[in-house]
Amino acid sequence: MIIKKETGFVMSACSSGNEMERSPWMCHVCDFKSADTESQVCDLCFRVTCQLHLRSASVYNKENGLYETAKVCIACGSSKM
Ligand SMILES: [Zn+2]
Ligand SMILES: [Zn+2]
Repeated sequence: MIIKKETGFVMSACSSGNEMERSPWMCHVCDFKSADTESQVCDLCFRVTCQLHLRSASVYNKENGLYETAKVCIACGSSKM
């Protein structure tokens, strides 16, 4: 009887800093800085935007002809309307 035991588990070298460190970010609209919350980016300009200046909007996708919900900053939102 042959028991083939494959151990694909590799112990990675323990590096210091195992914890996910949140890097501070700054809203490009109001310069609000935060390090405790997750940074969010605008789906149109890909710049970091705070919760206040980011809103979900329907964006028309030319490729598939569908409206998709995207996170849009007020800078992009106001330039469109
Ligand atoms: Zn902001
Ligand atoms: Zn934007």
